[in-house]
Amino acid sequence: MREQAEVAIREADVIIFMVNGREGITAADEEVAKLLFKSNKPVVLAVNKVDNPEMRENTYEFYSLGFGEPYPISGSHGLGLGDMLDQVFDLFPEHVDSIVDEDTVHFSVIGRPNVGKSSLVNAMLDQERVIVSDIAGTTRDAIDTSFRRDDRDYVIIDTAGMRKRGKIYETTEKYSILRALKAIERSDVVLTLIDAETGIIEQDKKIAGYAHEAGKAVVIVVNKWDAVDKDDQSMKEFEDNVRSQFQFLDYAPIVFLSAITKKRIHTLLPRIIQASENHTKRVETNVLNDVIMDALAINPTPTRHGKRLKILYATQVAIQPPTFVVFVNDPDLMHFSYERFLENKIREAFGFEGTPIKLYARKRS
Ligand code: GDP
Repeated sequence: MREQAEVAIREADVIIFMVNGREGITAADEEVAKLLFKSNKPVVLAVNKVDNPEMRENTYEFYSLGFGEPYPISGSHGLGLGDMLDQVFDLFPEHVDSIVDEDTVHFSVIGRPNVGKSSLVNAMLDQERVIVSDIAGTTRDAIDTSFRRDDRDYVIIDTAGMRKRGKIYETTEKYSILRALKAIERSDVVLTLIDAETGIIEQDKKIAGYAHEAGKAVVIVVNKWDAVDKDDQSMKEFEDNVRSQFQFLDYAPIVFLSAITKKRIHTLLPRIIQASENHTKRVETNVLNDVIMDALAINPTPTRHGKRLKILYATQVAIQPPTFVVFVNDPDLMHFSYERFLENKIREAFGFEGTPIKLYARKRS
């Protein structure tokens, strides 16, 4: 717990220190306070469970923790959050936005221990015509590796503990969940690895779930394909298995390869590029609306209590991942299955392989 807290503190710009207004200051609070003092980071003290104004006086004692004015909040009732967030915002450092090269593909490699993450990273970097250099990650102990191939730049996020050469090898450390989440956050594309030799286990799904939830482009990599006894059905069978176990990743392409023998490894980069391009793709509004109108013609909108959903128009509001808003008469009439149907039609029309897409219904104002 302590280690995770220390990492979180180190990576944060501002810290919200939450205490329990009903309990008063505990020994654990004092421990946390010590850690926070040492960090020298700006801290906003939030006193939670202050569910009504009478309880506000409970907050004064927390001045003694030494972080200035305590902010009374109620997480469950949503009270006081605005003031607290204003304070957080005021404490943000002035960010000079780093110049991000839009053409560079940032990807990370995730998976449970021993699936072959290090082997894959090294295999990709060992290829001919690859120019490799280390670059400092944006966070203190993350080291990224950049490489250039066929006139394109790539950055593999957080390769600390993965590279076989150089001093960073010393920092072989456990790829903790927090670390994986941070790597995912900075990626355009996430390669989620599966070990073909041992097959899929629960942990694989959990890890892949993080990439999906973050809305990143995803490529599923089935590694150690060399170690499997194969016949002409094996790949199809394994693929069916992956599809049934990773239903939430139905948009992710599956690449079979061996990081050790390097067989089929050349098929990976094209998939990464494709996923990245689709993740940032914008579609034209008029074409989008043609697609929606065609969809409406095939499958009439749902009704509820005799009222029919009316779709007025749709527009793409964001990329990474592509996000669409459909303006309707009443968003409550948008049934989950209909939303899914529209998503699929958009996918079919524009080819969003490798990336999730999001669709929201909004009332036309
Ligand atoms: P990590 O913990 O995910 O970084 O996994 P490693 O890259 O350290 O690999 C774990 C083990 O799997 C090592 O013994 C590798 O030699 C082995 N391994 C990795 N990739 C392959 C592969 O494609 N085929 C086979 N047969 N073994 C592999």
